[in-house]
Amino acid sequence: MINLEEQIKLLVEMQGLDTQIFKLEGELTAIPLEIKKMEEDFKEKTANLKKLEEGLKALQVKRKEREGDLESKEGTIKKYQIQLYQLKTNKEYATMQEEIGRVKADNSVIEEEIIRLLDQIDAENRMIQKEKEFLKAEEIKLSAEKKDREDKSKRIETELKDRNLQREALAVKVDKMILVKYERIINSKEGLAVVPVRTDACQGCFRIMPPQVINEIKMKTDLIFCDNCARILYIEE
Ligand SMILES: [Zn+2]
Repeated sequence: MINLEEQIKLLVEMQGLDTQIFKLEGELTAIPLEIKKMEEDFKEKTANLKKLEEGLKALQVKRKEREGDLESKEGTIKKYQIQLYQLKTNKEYATMQEEIGRVKADNSVIEEEIIRLLDQIDAENRMIQKEKEFLKAEEIKLSAEKKDREDKSKRIETELKDRNLQREALAVKVDKMILVKYERIINSKEGLAVVPVRTDACQGCFRIMPPQVINEIKMKTDLIFCDNCARILYIEE
């Protein structure tokens, strides 16, 4: 003959442990997701550096182009200057001088542009340097946070092991049939199988229990289940 009052006490105790186990397991599963989120956030932060580096590359390409232009125009000037001495008339000479002047003017525009590009390249390099320093600090922060989560994970695992040992010790004291019922409910009811009745309401689904059910619970001769949510009911001492 099982002592039902004793059994209910054991179930309430087991529910307390299972609630903790449920919560700890939830925290444990969340940790890898938290770490993944942190890594994704960090990866997003590296996007700005990539953009800056691409900008720098584009500026350098432009600079090379302009330097090539400058070189070819200087070649043109040299060629014209040689031709200058082979010209026969003053008019031809003047026209060539004018042409040389035009190319030289073009060149000073290009030179100014190159100087502007060099300034931009300098500025871009400084921003890249700053961004790299920022990312380095962020990376240090990230690995500290990851370490923190991994430590937390270990703490939870230890605690879970503890709670599971306590649970095993408790489970051997519970009647086999009752334990099967308890397990079935807890697995289908989000980790909550045993609930108190307070102010006549089931604390699992908050349905008001009729007086007859309350009396049956108080008698402690049978396990009483909530009509609505099927959880095991008890009344707190
Ligand atoms: Zn209920």
